Amino acid sequence: MHLLRNQAYIDGQWLKANSNDVFPVTNPADDCIIAEVPDMDASDAQKAIEAASKAFKTWRETTAKERSFILRKWFDLCQNNTDSLAEIITAESGKPLSESKGEVAYGNSFLEWFADAARHVNGEVLCSPWPNKQVIVTRHPIGVVSVITPWNFPFAMITRKVGALMAAGCTCVIKPSEDTPLAALAAVELAQQAGVPKGVINVITSSRKNAPNVGKILCEDPNIGCISFTGSTHVGKILYGMAAKGVKRVSLELGGNAPFIVFASADIENALDQAMLAKFRNNGQACIGANRFLIHEDVYDKFVDGFKNRIKQKCVLGPGIKPGVTCGPLVNEMQAKKVSSLVDEAVQKGAKPLVGGKFATNLGSKFYESTLLVDVKPDMTIYKEEIFGPVAVCLKFKTEEEVLEVANGTRSGLASYVFTRDLGQAFRMSRKLEFGMVAINDGILSAAEPPFGGIKESGIGREGSKHGVEEYTDIKYTLFSGL
Ligand code: ADP
Repeated sequence: MHLLRNQAYIDGQWLKANSNDVFPVTNPADDCIIAEVPDMDASDAQKAIEAASKAFKTWRETTAKERSFILRKWFDLCQNNTDSLAEIITAESGKPLSESKGEVAYGNSFLEWFADAARHVNGEVLCSPWPNKQVIVTRHPIGVVSVITPWNFPFAMITRKVGALMAAGCTCVIKPSEDTPLAALAAVELAQQAGVPKGVINVITSSRKNAPNVGKILCEDPNIGCISFTGSTHVGKILYGMAAKGVKRVSLELGGNAPFIVFASADIENALDQAMLAKFRNNGQACIGANRFLIHEDVYDKFVDGFKNRIKQKCVLGPGIKPGVTCGPLVNEMQAKKVSSLVDEAVQKGAKPLVGGKFATNLGSKFYESTLLVDVKPDMTIYKEEIFGPVAVCLKFKTEEEVLEVANGTRSGLASYVFTRDLGQAFRMSRKLEFGMVAINDGILSAAEPPFGGIKESGIGREGSKHGVEEYTDIKYTLFSGL
């Protein structure tokens, strides 16, 4: 793992924590320590913000073409180092190596996209309401961005945010998840090689214990212009509250509770293939992962039977580094406990596991079997909460109105999936589903080109697409008069 770095990165320097403290990063497959990284606190965060603020003064003045060129070089280096990046992602997050390579390709597509998008951040000249005056609208980088990222896509969540903010002319301080800081450090090593000037990207690593203190500085320091966060709704609300004190811009990608709706007219074989992707990618640990399978009563038995067989045939549980494995361990003890207790409670209240429903203890403490649960009822916690694990929950419905009510009956509104061959129904669902993203007859919808994001408690703002860059700009209106 030649890109493995065990120091933080501030102002172009690889550094230890002010306190000299470190914390271990472990491999969830075998609990071995991969590396120890600095356990930074508020004072280190302050130093990183100062470096980013200083760098902003010059980075904001670079041309879009220069920024585009550097992003493109970073993209090329990440692409050439796909295998090394993927090895690190698998080691610290547990996902199968093939998925880690997929994550590098996906994450990298944002660097490529934003290298282009950098050159299209344009303004407007508007019709003036007054004679002999002119109105122009320009876009300006918002400043230093605090980037706080989760463990489930430790590389892609960095590039999706940092590619966009750099394109806009902003600088940043990244605080990666304590579970997966190594992919962030490897990415930034390649950014340094690509010629990203010092201070433009800074990475501070800190343990869960220090996250609240670091988070407070990252939200409240007056030099911060925007807080860009992907993670749980719970932490997102805390950060949003702190950001409010300084009326800071926020970009929040929070939890989802995606419905996966299959109507009677659907191509069931396709729905089943897509269900496997929408549920078991990253072992169910994705905010856009299908959380509730809502199946029309006419095709319910067929779907459930097919799903059971596919899970039995296709889900291979084991360490992510082992060839052929499709589902790795859950990322940490907390996640493992959460998933198993959701299933245990549902089973106690009458739900039935058709496959799985328990840990594969022969493999270790964090390997949970790919599970299919039926007979799930609204009084069970698993019915309401984001599972974030390899557990598919199937429910039956009768009418379109009924399924819309169930699907929309949540405060989350990120992704949703619909399977139907009725075109009118497809349009109605696109219109009526209260989610930021709707996939018709597909189980994978994320890419650099479309806008990614949620409504309601799933977040604020969009990533990817042209909107992704605009998040990191302020609009300025100038009136030219008396000239
Ligand atoms: P997950 O359950 O996916 O780990 P979290 O929301 O708990 O989601 O964590 C996402 C990111 O937020 C991680 O980098 C974590 O360290 C960070 N985090 C957690 N609590 C805080 C906090 N109080 N302030 C700032 N960052 C935090």
